[in-house]
Amino acid sequence: MAEFDLIEHIRARTRHARGDVLLGIGDDAALLQPAPGMQLVACTDTLNVGVHFPEHTAPAALGWKALAVNLSDLAAMGAEPAWALLALSLPAPDTAFVAELAAGFAQLAARHEVALIGGDTTRGPLSLTVTALGQIPPGAALLRSGARVGDAVLVTGTLGDAAAGLALAQGKLSGVVAADEAFLRRRLDQPEPRVAAGLALRGLATACIDISDGLLADLGHVCTASGVGAEIELGALPLSAALSATMTRAQAQALALSGGDEYELCFCVAPAQVEAALARVQAAGCMARVIGRIVATSGVRVIDAQQGRGFEPTRRGYEHFA
Ligand code: ADP
Ligand code: MG
Repeated sequence: MAEFDLIEHIRARTRHARGDVLLGIGDDAALLQPAPGMQLVACTDTLNVGVHFPEHTAPAALGWKALAVNLSDLAAMGAEPAWALLALSLPAPDTAFVAELAAGFAQLAARHEVALIGGDTTRGPLSLTVTALGQIPPGAALLRSGARVGDAVLVTGTLGDAAAGLALAQGKLSGVVAADEAFLRRRLDQPEPRVAAGLALRGLATACIDISDGLLADLGHVCTASGVGAEIELGALPLSAALSATMTRAQAQALALSGGDEYELCFCVAPAQVEAALARVQAAGCMARVIGRIVATSGVRVIDAQQGRGFEPTRRGYEHFA
């Protein structure tokens, strides 16, 4: 039967073993043995064709990204990823497509020692839903609600790249140098979830979120949950060399403020902890930069220090059903 053939293709390509998986793919449900005293952290995210990715996206990129967006949520909690489930809807039982998709998933799963422990395979418009599970010591989770007035606001990596990658994929951006185009497309298709950075920020960040809907929108969620506001300095936004080479500084800054699909972490730390946070994130293999601070007045404002005035962005972020 095609369905079981597809599941077998997935199982064969995602054989990452973990001692804490007592029973994986093959029965009615998986059996897991969480580490003693640890709390479970759970999240799920869906990628739909035509909404989250253009049709004809490479299947390996889909498999990678469906897991990546979930590991990014775990990273934003400071959790250590462990297990994942994959619910897959396919218009047709295309084994080559599924094998590539599973290989892309497995590539990222292996890096983070995540075991695929189950899922569901059904017929329907192309859609991937991953549920990821991780572990964290009690009280260590990084929440959105802990930001305090005076905290510094930081982000990992660079911003705006994935939005430029999407513009490239949609044919809305052309004349880009091949190496820059490859970099920007990879930032869209193969985001690197900042798992190690999230772990490094345990006990240090007062609040944390991953940027999926755009910096302004997601920092807005932190501010609402924490009952504070934020000021972002336009000139402090981290821009990649590829993005800067591809468009004007103003265009790049606009994407950095509101572009979605970044999967970088935005987090807050007390002023006295900024140096420690920068060092720890760097030791975890990525860069971080201070981009602003938490203030008492609600809302997120952008300041253009060079011009000595506020800056009104044209777009604030992505929202389904808007
Ligand atoms: P059931 O009908 O009991 O839900 P299924 O036939 O859907 O069982 O699945 C059989 C086994 O294969 C289960 O262990 C399930 O978790 C696993 N499975 C199904 N689809 C996937 C998938 N896309 N990825 C990983 N495991 C899957
Ligand atoms: Mg099932």
